[in-house]
Amino acid sequence: MRQRTAIVIGGGIGGLTAAVALHRQGWEITVLERAAALEPVGAGIALAANAQRALDTIGAGDAVRAMAVPQIRGELRTPRGRRLARTDNAAVVRRFGGPVVVAHRAELIALLAGRLPEGAVRTGAPAEVADPGDPARPDRPARVRLLDPAETARTPHLTADLVIAADGIHSATRRSLFPGHPEPRYAGFTSWRLVVPALRRPYAAHETWGPGGVWGSVALHDGRVYAYATAAVPPGGRAPDDERSELLRRFGGWHQPVPEILAAADPAAVLRNDVRTAARPLPACHRGRVALLGDAVHPMTPNLGQGGCQAIEDAIVLAHRVASDRTLAAALDAYSRERLPRTTEVVRRSERIGRLTTWRSAPAVLLRQAAVACTARFAPDLALRSLDGIADWRPPGGTYASGAPGARPAHPAR
Ligand SMILES: Cc1cc2nc3c(=O)[nH]c(=O)nc-3n(C[C@H](O)[C@H](O)[C@H](O)COP(=O)(O)OP(=O)(O)OC[C@H]3O[C@@H](n4cnc5c(N)ncnc54)[C@H](O)[C@@H]3O)c2cc1C
Repeated sequence: MRQRTAIVIGGGIGGLTAAVALHRQGWEITVLERAAALEPVGAGIALAANAQRALDTIGAGDAVRAMAVPQIRGELRTPRGRRLARTDNAAVVRRFGGPVVVAHRAELIALLAGRLPEGAVRTGAPAEVADPGDPARPDRPARVRLLDPAETARTPHLTADLVIAADGIHSATRRSLFPGHPEPRYAGFTSWRLVVPALRRPYAAHETWGPGGVWGSVALHDGRVYAYATAAVPPGGRAPDDERSELLRRFGGWHQPVPEILAAADPAAVLRNDVRTAARPLPACHRGRVALLGDAVHPMTPNLGQGGCQAIEDAIVLAHRVASDRTLAAALDAYSRERLPRTTEVVRRSERIGRLTTWRSAPAVLLRQAAVACTARFAPDLALRSLDGIADWRPPGGTYASGAPGARPAHPAR
């Protein structure tokens, strides 16, 4: 039988997970990544139990957990350092079947890419869908155009049985296959991310909410610190000097370890991205032989820490469908049917929390602090409810590695 072929546009977390999953099923894979190198980006990523269980199905869960730090203790604080709430890790594990773990993004990407055959990932290879093809017609494969002029001259088109568009939030594939669909809209805040060497003084992982802004600090497995911040500002802004100076102006007076992290930060390595969220759900996650996944289909705010987790889920569900459904057309229909309602709900919940972080007026901020402190005291599990039906998700037909986070979800997946 002819080996089935898949082209993945975009070598981010979602694209590489899909590539590994299909490669394990015997597909011939080509990943086309626009950037000159796979994500060298200095940032961390939190992976909840749903994403870890998905990674378990492709045999990568244990390796990811080995290079990640479980979030055992976390605190919610005010800018002056007053503790409003403490994360109860035992409750997280009980409720979702495992802790959230934090990994370095570049290490996660390298781990996934390392599970593909030599030469499967082509960097410096921007691409677009030229023809989505027709899954019901063997004579109509999908066609992908390489956008580098030198490449186009050599190979005008690549063809494949399946194309996976994992080209991120500004997906050109989404725009071409769903013309007229609204672009992701600004969520009202911008974000910064940075990684600094280990700190001299001990600190507890924390997320601190102030007027119109959030700061989070968390340790990586080698002691380095991943920090992130958000602020409610107009879109498109850039610091007049550099982004570390901007962070110093906004957060330099907040409690330790924020000033120490800022003192250690390399101004050139601070990432800044406006946060955008899907303006409206797409009508489907596929067109022809092209399946979209991750931020290309459901961009969301980072407040639930689920954008990457949902991209991983997409990849695993897609691979499961193409392996178990009778035809590719049926598999892609089922993929859209399963993923759209779920990811639409995650986008909605994440945005709702994001809105709370943009509150700026003093009375509103005080009210929010009081509500958080009260919830932490009298209904500690309430804060975890935002992840019910999300972090307890289980992959379809999955096999679980030993040590995988819990086998039985406390709540049915939606
Ligand atoms: C501040 C912040 C914090 C976050 N924290 C978390 C978290 O803790 N946990 C979590 O799960 N999620 C988090 N997210 C969300 C997460 O980063 C994204 O949801 C995730 O990276 C999406 O993965 P993806 O593979 O869909 O897209 P991406 O990671 O964006 O990858 C897309 C890839 O496609 C490539 N590409 C684009 N166009 C082309 C083209 N034409 N040809 C070839 N290649 C192309 C890009 O170069 C890129 O490598 C956070 C986001 C932000 C902004």
